[in-house]
Amino acid sequence: MDKLLESIDLILQCTTSQRNNPGAVLLLGAPGVGKGTQADLQARLWDIPKISTGEILRTNVASRTALGLQADRIMKSGGLVPDQIVTEMVTNRLEFSDTVTGFILDGFPRNIRQAQWLDQYLCTHRKGEIPAIVYMCMDYGQILQRVAYRRVCPLCKTVYNTLFMPPKQIGRCDKDNHELEQRSDDTVEVLEERLRVFRRETEPLVQYYRDHSNVIEIDAGQSSSLVTKDIVSGLTEFRSALGNGSLNK
Ligand code: AMP
Repeated sequence: MDKLLESIDLILQCTTSQRNNPGAVLLLGAPGVGKGTQADLQARLWDIPKISTGEILRTNVASRTALGLQADRIMKSGGLVPDQIVTEMVTNRLEFSDTVTGFILDGFPRNIRQAQWLDQYLCTHRKGEIPAIVYMCMDYGQILQRVAYRRVCPLCKTVYNTLFMPPKQIGRCDKDNHELEQRSDDTVEVLEERLRVFRRETEPLVQYYRDHSNVIEIDAGQSSSLVTKDIVSGLTEFRSALGNGSLNK
């Protein structure tokens, strides 16, 4: 809790323009490192929307839209949904006016093609804005353990971990008392495939971004509040560096 207050304090110390305009933030990291939880927290702290491609896809699967039916099988196998589908989803979401001062992309981009598409998008729609890249790193053994115990509320999407962050009542969401579920792609077999896909497709992205701009590396194995605080400090420093021109464009 103290760390969360420190994070809020750090945000309050930002200049007004940084605080009101955190800009585009990309959250990268292997499945299970806690991107969703951190994206939710950062979105609330900076008052910007979180855009999770995985969540949008799961909503489509649950409501059996044409897009959902197409994505369902791929997601269950741990693979990546075709770029065209996700880039279209992201384009549609970024058109909403709540993204003007910034947004957090959780789970996008997932490969170099998507990153190049995003560069182009930021160029044409957001005056060539440089996004902040937050890379959450964690040891693969710890990831396996986390994912196996992950449970999600299908109603409000709150994520729990029955080992590290259990709900007050076993199997029930603290917020709405709904029965918690395990994601169909959170089994050990599917996770192993998702990690293989991450290594092959997404990890090279970190180098891609290192070559283009600064990458804020976060130790995601720490407690959640420390991770939150580190992300806030990283974003604050990044925006100041951009503001005073000390970051290469
Ligand atoms: P996530 O909730 O981010 O772990 O995503 C769950 C699943 O949705 C992934 O394993 C992919 O099948 C699919 N997915 C999410 N985001 C993307 C993306 N940017 N590109 C392709 N597939 C994605």
